[in-house]
Amino acid sequence: MADSSSTASRVSSRSNNRRAVAKRLGSPVTYREGPLAYEPPVLCYCGMKAPRWISWSDDNLGHRYYRCSKARSASDCGFYMWFDSASALDFVKDLLKDLRDAVWKLRKENNELRQVAGTSDEYNSDMKMQMDLLERENLDLKQALKATEEKMHEKDALLHPLASRGMQVGVK
Ligand SMILES: [Zn+2]
Repeated sequence: MADSSSTASRVSSRSNNRRAVAKRLGSPVTYREGPLAYEPPVLCYCGMKAPRWISWSDDNLGHRYYRCSKARSASDCGFYMWFDSASALDFVKDLLKDLRDAVWKLRKENNELRQVAGTSDEYNSDMKMQMDLLERENLDLKQALKATEEKMHEKDALLHPLASRGMQVGVK
């Protein structure tokens, strides 16, 4: 169960891992209020105003908390403090969980569809390259055919000197 005390604490690596999934997939909704839009300011150990976030992890779903503004960087002071009490939010937890999971599922599906679309783009450009090659080959063949026709014409002219002078000799 969530630690509902409002005393500041340093984040353990274990709870960091537990929140890793939630952080990787991101907040399912856009925050109505910016993380720094609250008053009065709560300061972290660095002496800076700590952003207030909403937790999306299973254990603390919907709980707002303050965290050092340099969280997840080398200079993170580790400051962490709850804003909401645990019991006040119990009744909306399940609802939030379902909504969160639905958004994450859609987000994943969306990513997968984008990847499939990217693959078919690659396929299409492959096809286009092959078409270009075939067209070039076709052009080469046409030229070769034309050259052959010309040579045959020359031979005809040699064999039938009258035809070369444009006279009717019955040879096509
Ligand atoms: Zn700090």
